[in-house]
Amino acid sequence: MEERNNKPIVKLISKPENMLKTVYTACRTCYSAQSPVEMYENDVDEEKMLKLIRNVVASGHHSTIEHIQVSFAISNVSRACTHQLVRHRLMSFSQKSQRYVQEKGQFDYIIPPTIDRNPELKEKFISFMGEISNKYQEFVDAGIPAEDARFVLPNAASSSLVASLNLRELIHLANLRLCTRAQYEIRCMVKDMCEALSKEEPWLKEYLVPKCEAIGFCDEHKSCGRKITKAELFEKAGVNC
Ligand SMILES: Cc1cc2nc3c(=O)[nH]c(=O)nc-3n(C[C@H](O)[C@H](O)[C@H](O)COP(=O)(O)OP(=O)(O)OC[C@H]3O[C@@H](n4cnc5c(N)ncnc54)[C@H](O)[C@@H]3O)c2cc1C
Repeated sequence: MEERNNKPIVKLISKPENMLKTVYTACRTCYSAQSPVEMYENDVDEEKMLKLIRNVVASGHHSTIEHIQVSFAISNVSRACTHQLVRHRLMSFSQKSQRYVQEKGQFDYIIPPTIDRNPELKEKFISFMGEISNKYQEFVDAGIPAEDARFVLPNAASSSLVASLNLRELIHLANLRLCTRAQYEIRCMVKDMCEALSKEEPWLKEYLVPKCEAIGFCDEHKSCGRKITKAELFEKAGVNC
């Protein structure tokens, strides 16, 4: 049976050269009589910068990490996945249009792993994608514009986009979407985004984590068991809630 790549393709395409120093300068500006220009131009030990940043971020002073903007090129993800991503309101997107880009032949699609590993269901899935593709083509051939013919396309149809966001929003995105309660595909995509950035900026690893790692407990109703739940934590502390 046909083998498809069902994994997101993610590339970090833009980031500032001087991320750590920029965040450090923003943090230090708030608490020093020195000018930000002087601070930025002075050589500062990396550990010293990280110590200040950790303290400032831990205190909730998060505007200091908004000065960093990063962009990712993302493809081979389903419309189901991108629909979830675009709910994040502090991100900027440019997504392949189903109005302007008319499908030619079989449209690309993503097969979820639960279906991909079941040969019988996978065959049915692929056959159904073929039927949809034929129906789409039938409408286009009958003169229906792509913007209307696309109404028959499924959530599985693959898409691509450029997504940009600041570091504060990326950390928020990681906290929500690296959680095992998030849907597998967006989790996989956000993991790749975080890994691509922390490969170049290893100091960010401690921030690009699921929310339970950030807050120390799980606030989901159904916990994966990675961290103590909020209820267990309160019970341990003898607090009634
Ligand atoms: C596991 C999971 C399941 C979900 N299930 C559903 C679902 O069933 N149905 C559904 O509709 N959605 C669902 N969502 C989407 C969710 O409701 C949010 O729309 C999405 O996660 C964006 O999160 P956000 O609003 O925190 O962040 P963003 O939009 O990324 O904004 C970042 C932060 O900015 C602030 N902010 C942004 N806009 C405003 C505003 N207008 N007013 C005040 N503060 C603002 C908030 O502090 C917010 O947390 C789900 C999300 C997850 C992670």
